[in-house]
Amino acid sequence: MYFSYESVITNPRRYPQHMRTTRREFLKTTAALGAATVYTLYARDIASVFSAAAEGDIHTIWFQGAADAGCSISLLQGARPDLIDAITDFKLSVDFHPNIMFPEGEAATSALRDAAEGSKPLDVFILEGAVPEGNFGTVGEIDGKPVTMETWVKQLASQAQYVVAVGTCATSGGIPGAYPNPTRAKGLQYYKQEKGGVLGADFKSRAGFPVINIPGCPPHPDWITLTLSDVLRGFAPHLDNYQRPTAFFGSVVHDKCPRLGYFEKNQFASKFGDLQCLWKLGCKGPITYANCPEIKWNRGINSCTTFASGCRGCADPSFPDPPSSPFFKEIEAVPAPLGIDVNLVGETIAAATAIGIGAHALRRFALKGRQGTTTETAKEGA
Ligand code: SF4
Ligand code: SF4
Repeated sequence: MYFSYESVITNPRRYPQHMRTTRREFLKTTAALGAATVYTLYARDIASVFSAAAEGDIHTIWFQGAADAGCSISLLQGARPDLIDAITDFKLSVDFHPNIMFPEGEAATSALRDAAEGSKPLDVFILEGAVPEGNFGTVGEIDGKPVTMETWVKQLASQAQYVVAVGTCATSGGIPGAYPNPTRAKGLQYYKQEKGGVLGADFKSRAGFPVINIPGCPPHPDWITLTLSDVLRGFAPHLDNYQRPTAFFGSVVHDKCPRLGYFEKNQFASKFGDLQCLWKLGCKGPITYANCPEIKWNRGINSCTTFASGCRGCADPSFPDPPSSPFFKEIEAVPAPLGIDVNLVGETIAAATAIGIGAHALRRFALKGRQGTTTETAKEGA
């Protein structure tokens, strides 16, 4: 039998006074059990937290295109700040979120319509999921006619002070946009590595920003909440050439990987469970920009390369197409735009180590060209 949080917390027989906890403590504790479980069992309680924020000053719309709600689930695991802090400290008013808002039907779509028409302010428009072309994706109706996701997205983005794409689907197409992409789904301002997307290469929000991209499948919750907190405090996050905050996407996973020492000694795992570097088992850490090994997942417990799976390249704009796939195949010669041939670097490092040259320094030298391009482009776009 399932007891709602409210029914347990308010029933003295089930929950004596000395055992009671605040909603904040409750959410913090249950979040540690796993976001998906919490999300499923306590969606109504979480919804009431959002509705409590409805008197806030900052108006936010979280819209979902072609997606599985994984980014929303990830957000619920946020720790620095957690979701409650994010809402209360930044006075977020979440006017629309398809999973956790109370209103439904006309009451729900009217919040979208008001924001899209500009009759209510829209401070931050957040998109989760890719945007399929035309009638491949619709949300609600106006005058009895279905409204396409593409239409909503373009109208809402045109009204927003800031536009934030959350997750690789929203940033560059992700899984819905994977080859052969039958619905012609794209990200907001990119499709794969190509600039343009649904809003076009020249799009700027009302505050003068391009789309702020937070890739990942899903993105780390702290990437989302900390970027939002930056934006809402009036700080412009420094973005790279894919419009990602450099604070989180400024270096490749490989740079901070705890298995880096094995890579540099040319010691590679031959099966999952081995301690050595996972490159030959298909790890995409050397080409994927994200600070996962540093920030770690599940409130700082672990990350993909610390654990045995290796990086799947989920934050790379190519994901899930090459070069982030095939997932379990060693990266072959990395294309020129990335500025580095990982195979070559691996071999060169092994040779350099043998003659006493610092392998890590050499690898950094090899990556330098790629990083330099990124920074320069970001500055140009700033
Ligand atoms: S290839 Fe993967 S497992 Fe090996 S050091 Fe780089 S990020 Fe870590
Ligand atoms: S380590 Fe790679 S696959 Fe894992 S979450 Fe980070 S970017 Fe995604």
